[in-house]
Amino acid sequence: MSDTIFSKIVRKEITADIVFENDFVLAFKDINPKAPVHILIIPKVEIATVTDLNGKDHAEILGQLFDAANSIAKIMKIEADGFRLVINCGKNGGQEVNHLHMHLLGGRKMTWPPG
Ligand code: 5GP
Repeated sequence: MSDTIFSKIVRKEITADIVFENDFVLAFKDINPKAPVHILIIPKVEIATVTDLNGKDHAEILGQLFDAANSIAKIMKIEADGFRLVINCGKNGGQEVNHLHMHLLGGRKMTWPPG
C-alpha cells in the first residue's frame, strides 16, 4: 500500500476538506491554495504520475477525473467564468506528491506562461 499523504487521505487516515467523492476519485481543498478555488482531484487507485498512464488501462479513470473536474467547477460556482486544470509530472514539472493529482484552479484570472 502506498504511503503518500494522498493515499492516507483516500484511506481517511488523515483529514482533508473533501468537496467531491465517488467510487473512482476523491477531491479536496489544497492545503496551500494558489487561487481562491484550489482543489486537488485524485484517483483512489494508486497511480504515481502521468508517465504511468496509458489509454488502454486508464481510460475510465481519466474520464472520471475530468467528469469530477466539471462537477466540482459547478459545485464551486466557477464553471461560467472558467478555470485551469494542471497536472504536474516529475521533477521539472514540479510534482511534489507521487500520487497522480489534477489541480483545479479558479476564482481569479490566471496568467500565462506559468512559472
Ligand atoms: P504537486 O506540486 O505535487 O503538483 O502538488 C501537491 C499539492 O498538494 C500542493 O499544492 C500542496 O499544497 C498540496 N498538499 C500537500 N500536502 C497536503 C495535505 O496534507 N493536504 C492537502 N489538502 N494538500 C496538500
